[in-house]
Amino acid sequence: MKQVEELAGIDRGQPPPVGGLSYDLTPAQEELRARTRAFAVQKVAPGAAERYARGEYPVDLVREMGRTGLLGLPFPVEWGGGGGGLLELCLAVEEIGRVDQSLGITLESTVSLGAMPIHRFGTPEQRRRWLPSLISGEAVAGFGLTEPGGGTDTAGLATTAVLDGDAWVINGEKAWIGNAGSPITAFVTITAITGRRDDGRPEVTNLLVPAGTPGFVPGERNDLVGWRTIDNRHLCFVDCRVPADNMVGERGRGLANFLSILDAGRVALAALAVGLIQGCLDECRRYAAERSAFGRPIGAHQAVQFRIADMAVAAQLARDATWRAAWLADAGRPFHTEACVAKLAASEAATTTARAAVQVFGGLGYTNDSAVGRFYRDAKVLEIGEGTSEVQRMLIARDLGLPAA
Ligand SMILES: Cc1cc2nc3c(=O)[nH]c(=O)nc-3n(C[C@H](O)[C@H](O)[C@H](O)COP(=O)(O)OP(=O)(O)OC[C@H]3O[C@@H](n4cnc5c(N)ncnc54)[C@H](O)[C@@H]3O)c2cc1C
Repeated sequence: MKQVEELAGIDRGQPPPVGGLSYDLTPAQEELRARTRAFAVQKVAPGAAERYARGEYPVDLVREMGRTGLLGLPFPVEWGGGGGGLLELCLAVEEIGRVDQSLGITLESTVSLGAMPIHRFGTPEQRRRWLPSLISGEAVAGFGLTEPGGGTDTAGLATTAVLDGDAWVINGEKAWIGNAGSPITAFVTITAITGRRDDGRPEVTNLLVPAGTPGFVPGERNDLVGWRTIDNRHLCFVDCRVPADNMVGERGRGLANFLSILDAGRVALAALAVGLIQGCLDECRRYAAERSAFGRPIGAHQAVQFRIADMAVAAQLARDATWRAAWLADAGRPFHTEACVAKLAASEAATTTARAAVQVFGGLGYTNDSAVGRFYRDAKVLEIGEGTSEVQRMLIARDLGLPAA
């Protein structure tokens, strides 16, 4: 037995190898978490209900997230970033999402979907030109993958781009795109078919389209059930010309690159779901002590206690799954399955928790003035965006080696 352990490199007398999974945050991560919590409580929570009712995109808060360093967390210091990783982003998204899911998704999408494709696949010139303003909060950017005819079926793209001299000419439509038409939108990076491969499959390439380019027409903001203050629209491209240099990443790698962006994005979306669960738990603990029925606080009734205990369980399990996926990503280890597990588990727990939280609040929970009422509306989309629950299950099944459907 000892021989087997030696061969496998197991030495039970030694501490775990450096770089092993640790559930302890570093002092810097703890400080980030506390700082973001303070910002969320002092600056974000107070106006959340009014912003939700007005449905206004909160430009000032986006800029403030830039000033406080939240929009640059996983980017290099040379661009004004924080030099951290996905775990740092998850910590911040959870804390903002704990009080305001709309601002939480704006943080997540500005970093993971807007800036990350440029950071990971852009040329040095594209990084120099665009990243500083996205990190400082002066600008945001969109990620244009979904089309009216294809969300889950990402291979069913129809938008085309044809090289004409030194410009790409883009025609097509995108659907449900965040940060693509706000007052501070700088650009949207899209997928477009730029040719055919030898096997007949489309060649897909990423192109950066600056706001205001003639032929790039953002539609009206979508009237969403939740996430009421985000910028989300359908986009139209009509003979829209962008310089040939606006290609992001290699020609023909556009779909693969965007899907790899979504791998990390869905971990950050799981963190947003953790924030929602934790926010419901915070609210219900408070209200269960304040509100009385039958001569005692409702929190003294076991049915209410059990609901709240279940929220604590959901928060812990979802957070553990999210941090584990983020830690693997930051360690440069495979994290694809873990990202899907975290996104699926956290988002489904979020919808269950939000429903239970409204129940704990009774009638008051069924208003947009109450945080739990807003969480209830915000929760559902967590099971849809950045890959539906069905997609997560399909990917997990594929990673398990099950036969292709
Ligand atoms: C608020 C919001 C913000 C968004 N932001 C962005 C963004 O910034 N950028 C972007 O590119 N996209 C964005 N999206 C789009 C989002 O990613 C898509 O809505 C999502 O991927 C689902 O695509 P769909 O809406 O076309 O649904 P469909 O693909 O039409 O799916 C409909 C239903 O069928 C199921 N289904 C489809 N195929 C299968 C299958 N093979 N097996 C089992 N079930 C299947 C789906 O799971 C779903 O339940 C956003 C969406 C919303 C609502």
